[in-house]
Amino acid sequence: MFTLPKLPYEMNALEPYISKNTIEFHYLKHHQSYVDNLNKLITGTEFESMPLEEIIKETAGKAQYTPIFNNAAQAWNHAFFWKSMTKNGGGEPKNQLLADIVADFGSFENFKTEFKNAAVSQFGSGWAWLVRNHEGKLSVLKTANADNPLVYGLHPLITVDVWEHAYYLDYQNRRADFVEAFLNHLVNWHNL
Ligand code: MN
Repeated sequence: MFTLPKLPYEMNALEPYISKNTIEFHYLKHHQSYVDNLNKLITGTEFESMPLEEIIKETAGKAQYTPIFNNAAQAWNHAFFWKSMTKNGGGEPKNQLLADIVADFGSFENFKTEFKNAAVSQFGSGWAWLVRNHEGKLSVLKTANADNPLVYGLHPLITVDVWEHAYYLDYQNRRADFVEAFLNHLVNWHNL
């Protein structure tokens, strides 16, 4: 059975960019419900003792497993999203990752523009990601609903949740302002 992973900071740590109120709903209600639903769906199935990543890969694209995929991927995506942010985050990464971003996007500003465009243009619910492919090349990806880069053999480095529940209490319809705050003040480049 899966449990809600510990949030890597206090629930007010990302203020004023993400309020404690948003984190309480997002982490304690939304994220928790994906974990709870997944546990209910896999009880007594072949997926019961699998690691989360394996459940995601095994159920992706198979219509009969859509509810399991959705909840497993959302459980993973949210755990990854919390780790993609930190208090006093934002700005540029250091060393090799910055060099790789400049090599693959032309400049750090180009990367930011591309990431922001992906996040803002994702129609409806979804995610924007910075990913590395198996050759080490970086790219920006947007995915719908629960979809996740692991399914495509890509290695995610950071993500931002652009479901409305991620920003509506703080930014209402202004998704672009939320993504801008994520890039300038929250994104966690440490350990990458
Ligand atoms: Mn979410």
